[in-house]
Amino acid sequence: MDLRTFIRDIPDFPEKGIIFRDITPLLKDKGAFKHAIDMLAEKLSEIDFDLIVAPEARGFIFGGALSYKLNKGFIPVRKPGKLPYEVISEKYTLEYGEAELQMHVDSINKGQKVIIFDDVLATGGTAKALKKLVEKAGGELVAMSFLIELSYLNPRNILKDENIISLIIL
Ligand code: 5GP
Repeated sequence: MDLRTFIRDIPDFPEKGIIFRDITPLLKDKGAFKHAIDMLAEKLSEIDFDLIVAPEARGFIFGGALSYKLNKGFIPVRKPGKLPYEVISEKYTLEYGEAELQMHVDSINKGQKVIIFDDVLATGGTAKALKKLVEKAGGELVAMSFLIELSYLNPRNILKDENIISLIIL
């Protein structure tokens, strides 16, 4: 199954000049969604880790399914003001603007091994912020994984030395 056929390109979203890779056609197809989760789970099953850390909103969809399938804990990362308990924060630059992400301060026990998961790796800014949150919380980042990596935006330039596992490279 070629998962690329389930990704829809939306030109000029959310801003002019950006081609947004829309994953909703993949999500609504039960075979494609299952295939994506199974393939990602197979890749991640080779790694020794404890927790999946994923940002809202699309990271939750995959991160949740993968946590269940691989029998790991799940840590939600959210936009400011959404998490009810004490948080740690990280500000960062997105492909299209400024942003901030938060995680509960007690999400990760010291030394726990963490995999970050998100739907799309674009410029790498979000992944870098997620890494900083994981490290602030005392976790050890062992890999970053993505459904789609936009290699033409060169995200690996700012993620040197990271173990990056992407299912679809565009
Ligand atoms: P980055 O920080 O790497 O530039 O952007 C990655 C973040 O923005 C991810 O959380 C991802 O969900 C979102 N994102 C950026 N570009 C796209 C895109 O083309 N398609 C989708 N689905 N998400 C994107």
